[in-house]
Amino acid sequence: MSETLRGLRVWICALGCRSNIYEAEALAGELAARGASVSAEAEGCEVAVIVSCSVTATADRKCRQAVRRARRVCGVVAVCGCWAQALPGEDVLNLGIDILAGSRMKHLLPGAIEAKLASPGSAPLEFRGKNRDEDTEGDAKWDSLSLDRPRLRTRAFLKIQEGCDHFCSYCVIPFLRGRSVSRNPEDVLAEVKRVVSSGCREIVLTGIHLGDYRTGDVTLPDLIDKLSALPGLSRLRLGSLEPFALTTPLLDALADSPIFCRHLHLPAQSGDDGVLSRMRRGYKAGDFLSLCDLAREKLRGDLHISSDILVAFPGETESAFQNTMSLMERAALGRVHVFPYSPRKGTEAWSFGGRVEPRVASDRVAAAASLGERLLSRYASRFIGATVSILAESEREGVLEGYSRNFLSVEAEFDKKLEIGQKIGQKIGREVDVLVRQCANGKLKGARIQ
Ligand code: SF4
Repeated sequence: MSETLRGLRVWICALGCRSNIYEAEALAGELAARGASVSAEAEGCEVAVIVSCSVTATADRKCRQAVRRARRVCGVVAVCGCWAQALPGEDVLNLGIDILAGSRMKHLLPGAIEAKLASPGSAPLEFRGKNRDEDTEGDAKWDSLSLDRPRLRTRAFLKIQEGCDHFCSYCVIPFLRGRSVSRNPEDVLAEVKRVVSSGCREIVLTGIHLGDYRTGDVTLPDLIDKLSALPGLSRLRLGSLEPFALTTPLLDALADSPIFCRHLHLPAQSGDDGVLSRMRRGYKAGDFLSLCDLAREKLRGDLHISSDILVAFPGETESAFQNTMSLMERAALGRVHVFPYSPRKGTEAWSFGGRVEPRVASDRVAAAASLGERLLSRYASRFIGATVSILAESEREGVLEGYSRNFLSVEAEFDKKLEIGQKIGQKIGREVDVLVRQCANGKLKGARIQ
C-alpha cells in the first residue's frame, strides 16, 4: 500500500454502537496502512473522520457537536454512517463538511481523503448509500472494510452482520443502514486470525441485528463453533443480541464454546405486553423471562444478562412502566442501559399519539436507572471472595483495570505481599487473575494474584 498519507494525523471519532467502533477501527487501520497516524483527539490533526450515529435526537446533537469541533481544528472533515446517510445537502455545506459517506460507503473514505487533500477548496465529496426502497441490489452488498488489529481499544469488535429488516416501530436504523446482510464466514475467520496474530486475546462479534447472521447455510451457531476452535483466541463475546434471535442452537453453541465469556446483552426495552406490541418487538414479557431462564440453564447460573430499557414510549401508563420495573427485577438483570423514547421521523411510532410528558419521562428514566444500579450491585456482589480473570485494559497508579469474563468492571491492585516484581504495565492486553475483595457500585475491587 503506497504511503500517500504519510505524516498525516487523523482524528477518528466513533459515536454510537459497536458496529461503528468496528468501522472506526477498520478505517484507522486502512489510513495507518497509507502512512497516516491515528489519534483519539482532534487537536493537532489535519483530518477528522467522524463515524456518526442517529439512533436518537441526542445522538444527532452529538454528531453536530463533533463536526463543529472538527471544523475548528482540522483541515479536512469527513463524516460517515447513519447520521450522514440522512443529512440534507444544505447541512453538509452549512456545517463545512468536506466528505460525506453514507451507509455501506465507508470503504470509499481513504481514497476520498487523498482526493480532497490533492484538491483543497473543491466542492464536498458525497457518497450516499441508496435508501432501502430505491436499491434492492446495492443494499445487499457488504461494505468492504477489514480489520488487522484494534488501535483504539484492547479488545476487537468484529462486525459480521449489517442492516435490519425487523422494523421495530420506534427504530430508524432499518431505514439508515438498509437490509440485513451477513459477512462471508471465510472473511470473518481470516480477520479473526489477523487480529489474534496481532496479540489481541478477545473479540466481540457485533452487528446491527447480530442474531440475523446467516450466509448460505452458515448460521451464527456454526460461526461460533469455528471461532471457538481457533488457536490463540481466549475470549469470545457477543455484542447486543435481540431476544427474538436467542435460539436453543445458539445457546448450545455458546455452552459448548470453551472461550465464550458468560455475558449476554438482551435488549428487553419494556416489560409491558401492550407497549411491546406497539413497539413491534415480537415477544411478550413472559417470553423474555423464559428466555432468561433458558439461557441460565444452558450457560450456568452466573451468566450476566444485561439489557436496554426504553421508557416513556407513547401510551406508556404508570402501570405499564411498573411492569417494566417488575420485569427488570424478575429477570435478575445486571447492567441496564435506560433510554427515554426519542421520536424518529420516518418510523411508525412517529405518528403515535399519547406522548409522555418530559417530566414524567425523566422521572421514569431516573427510577429505572436507579433500579438498574441496585440490580448490578446485587449481581456483582456474588463474586466477592471469588477469583475472576480479567483482560487488563489500562493501568492507573499501580492498579490494573479491565473486564471479567462476566463483563463486570474490575480494579486489581498489585499485592505487595506476593512480591512478583513484574511491571504492571506489561500486563495490558493480557489475562490476569484477580481475587475479589469488595464490590462498589457494581464494580469489583481486588488484588492481582498472578
Ligand atoms: S431489531 Fe429493532 S431495534 Fe434492533 S436495529 Fe432492528 S429495528 Fe432497530
